[in-house]
Amino acid sequence: MDNLSKQLNNINSIVDLIGDTPLIKLNGFNGLSSDKQIFIKAEWFNPGGSIKDRAALSMIKDGINKKKLNSKKIIMDSSSGNTAIAYAMIGSALGFKVELVTPENINIERKKTLQAYGAKIIYSSPFEGSDGAIIEARKMASKFPDKYFMPDQYNNEANPLAHYSTTGPEIWDQVDGKITHFISGIGTSGTAMGTSKFLKEKNPNIKTIGVQPDNSLHGLEGLKHIPSSIVPGIYKESNLDEIFWANTEESYDVMEKLVKYEGMFVGHSGGAVVLAALEEIKKIEQAIVVCVIPDGGYRYLSGGVWW
Ligand code: PMP
Repeated sequence: MDNLSKQLNNINSIVDLIGDTPLIKLNGFNGLSSDKQIFIKAEWFNPGGSIKDRAALSMIKDGINKKKLNSKKIIMDSSSGNTAIAYAMIGSALGFKVELVTPENINIERKKTLQAYGAKIIYSSPFEGSDGAIIEARKMASKFPDKYFMPDQYNNEANPLAHYSTTGPEIWDQVDGKITHFISGIGTSGTAMGTSKFLKEKNPNIKTIGVQPDNSLHGLEGLKHIPSSIVPGIYKESNLDEIFWANTEESYDVMEKLVKYEGMFVGHSGGAVVLAALEEIKKIEQAIVVCVIPDGGYRYLSGGVWW
């Protein structure tokens, strides 16, 4: 490392800024008190704008270590948005080409962001959602195994491992071990699986709650209604104490309150996770709840919620 890099606090590229996100206390919602506190793990502070930077980096590093990824291969995967942007950002910083299979109806913010990073987008049917993109990406990977490295975020243990080795320990340190509840959304389930495993090993009494949309036709981007989806290989429901079924309208309502009363401009799934936390604190006398908010609201500006 040259002297200039040392002066720059050992930040050799933007990927060194992934993780170590802040934990922020909620103040403006009814039901909060000194006995009932909710903290937000603010994942939109990651350089690619979402929690998926952690999983993408972990899977890319794992691919390099296992010699599945080299400079001649293209990183290719299916993603409805945040993982795609994470691959594109990391690929651009580390010098890998990136191709993403994504449903044609992803919003304009995502399309333009991916194009800005130089990634190629391959569209799958808008009617088949994220499952259609998964199937298309698998076909491409099996047809051209020498061309593509497909991390396969739904079945890659390096995805939950990112959260077991970073998100979980960060939360534990930030609350000095005083957490009673951990709540996160379920998309691939990497965040919920990896973070819960770490926290349960530290203290098995911590209650872990996974949040899913309450039906298959929902508006909570990034979350999966598992009963009607291809079940991710990394998902083990028994690792969680409870599932919270989030209603889209109620989640949007909480999301809007997070912006108006807390100054946190967050995405849809953040509203769903905080909705789960607010319901949980109604049931108990004392709680220190940590909620993961995966991304920020700028990613959804064209979606019709903000006007
Ligand atoms: N919320 C948003 C906005 C996401 O993009 C994702 C990832 N699909 C999630 C929640 C769920 O995260 P995970 O894949 O770790 O379950």
